[in-house]
Amino acid sequence: MADIIKLLPDHVANQIAAGEVVQRPASVVKELLENAIDAGATLVKLIVKDGGKALIQVVDNGLGMSETDARLSFERHATSKISSAQDLFNLQTKGFRGEALASIAAIAHVDMQTRVEGSEIGTHIKIEGSKIITQEAVATPKGTSISVKNLFFNIPARRNFLKSNQVELRHITDEFHRVALVHPNIEFHFYNNGSEIFNLPRAKHRQRISHVFGNKMTDRLVPVEEETEVVKISGFICKPEFAKKSRGEQFFFANSRFIKSPYLHHSVIAAFEGLIKKELYPGYFLYLEVDPSSIDINIHPTKTEVKFDDENTIYAILRSTIKHSLGQFNVAPALDFEHDPNLDTPYAYKEKGVVLPKVTVDTAFNPFQETAERKTSTSTYQKASAKGWENLFEGADASVNTEDFSSVEIESDDAVQGTFYSETESDAQAGMTFQLRRKFIVSTIKSGMLVIHQNRAHERVLFEKFLGEITVKEGVSQQLLFPLELSFSKQELIILKEIKESLNNVGFAFESLEQETVKVTGVPLIVSESGIGTVLDQLIANYKEGFEGNSISQAELLAKELAKNLAVKSGEVLDSESQLALVNDLFGCKEPSLSPFQKLTYTTISEGDIDKKFS
Ligand code: ADP
Ligand code: MG
Repeated sequence: MADIIKLLPDHVANQIAAGEVVQRPASVVKELLENAIDAGATLVKLIVKDGGKALIQVVDNGLGMSETDARLSFERHATSKISSAQDLFNLQTKGFRGEALASIAAIAHVDMQTRVEGSEIGTHIKIEGSKIITQEAVATPKGTSISVKNLFFNIPARRNFLKSNQVELRHITDEFHRVALVHPNIEFHFYNNGSEIFNLPRAKHRQRISHVFGNKMTDRLVPVEEETEVVKISGFICKPEFAKKSRGEQFFFANSRFIKSPYLHHSVIAAFEGLIKKELYPGYFLYLEVDPSSIDINIHPTKTEVKFDDENTIYAILRSTIKHSLGQFNVAPALDFEHDPNLDTPYAYKEKGVVLPKVTVDTAFNPFQETAERKTSTSTYQKASAKGWENLFEGADASVNTEDFSSVEIESDDAVQGTFYSETESDAQAGMTFQLRRKFIVSTIKSGMLVIHQNRAHERVLFEKFLGEITVKEGVSQQLLFPLELSFSKQELIILKEIKESLNNVGFAFESLEQETVKVTGVPLIVSESGIGTVLDQLIANYKEGFEGNSISQAELLAKELAKNLAVKSGEVLDSESQLALVNDLFGCKEPSLSPFQKLTYTTISEGDIDKKFS
């Protein structure tokens, strides 16, 4: 048989390599920004059009390149940053693989102008799909400007795979943040479709974080500082009360490089243990410095996954340093569970057993009485949700569809009811319910017993309510007497604008979304005034993550997020009225059996099942 193995031509090899280095416009942004920084720039401009699909341009005032270097820079494995394998163990630069420009040039139209100091004339190169189209002399400022146009022009499958411009812009913004946060001494400008969305002057670390994420950050940050032989740690953590339900403001940098480290993330979480609820994530901006020879950055082409020699030690040091900061800055005592109304309820009640009504023994016992008593001592947390419940109950009258309800008929046995309800509670005729472990609502039905998951059931109810409101635009808005001022980062504002119409439809009203400080003038009935900030924050964060996962409509995603945020949680006490309203509303839903996240909302236990237990 003839020999069949061939060496791939360079442009094919480059295209294959590009697949690893360039996943989307944001990858190009990362590589170009890193090159500008490696070139010693003090001023970097990022210019993007149409989510980077039409144009990504990075202009720097760094070293620039000679005529020959400019051409060579597009060759694969062409780098000025290392010359021997030994150099890999002492990396001071971000790049070193010499692959980025070659990869980018293989799959886009690239235009580069560059000039080194001391040379009067610069050089201008055009490359399309790895082919040099022209190279000529040009008058250009010192430094380098690279434009990347029509990304993936020759790989239609990849181009089609790209998400909407907004989603791609968000990925780009994430990369921009990662670079800007670790180089506060470099001035950055970021333009999108002609307007400047970030203008970051040279600053200290703390100011840079505020410039990027908004002024609200200034009061939230607690400094972290430690120097040991293994690692030097500096940076900030966010106070525990600002922990969020979704990830987003968590940044690790190792030797000035953004890294992802689930292991070290865990150590931060461990330091916050007991201060924040399990499902919340603390914000942090942590800069680690280690001996370059003790870190392996070579694991992944995008270089965000690294390996530390002494990972366990770093874990332990990081955790104790953060704990120390939390204590030193008096953050922890303020969060004593006794005093924080937002935190005490779920914890205080979590482990307590259920008090089952002893109906047959004690005829005077009234389980609803007990809940009522507890309610008097409830925190604002519960009051807020109770308010929501009243609204829910009001709205319920019109919307309950008794026909749908018939599938799970609530038993109305007068004799039993007499035991539970006084005359005044006659609105509860539809049935009787009680709450089990502050998590389930239990009622009897003809065939046996009905157990409803309160959180999921309410998510279903709210989901259908919001979805309806978003699509028919009829959400009821509660006007705020005094507009609430909230501050958002630029990126958050972009998302807010994106979902503004849907938010208006469910009852949110904003005065203007042009400034970092946004005046909220109206909110949906179910949102309590004190909860507005949290709801919007979480909505934005979750929306950002969720919208990329799948292509469901904006309305559906938003309805889901609102439902998730506002639904009554496990651990919350519901009075009998609210319990009943929930049961009624659930069975008035189009799809009562599943939560919007496809989880069972209720189950039934038949008389037969119970009989079996006694056999
Ligand atoms: P790497 O950064 O891994 O060395 P790249 O493909 O990103 O590989 O860049 C190749 C080379 O081109 C770099 O090593 C550097 O010498 C040069 N280069 C790239 N971008 C710039 C820039 N903005 N300013 C000066 N030199 C640059
Ligand atoms: Mg590079």
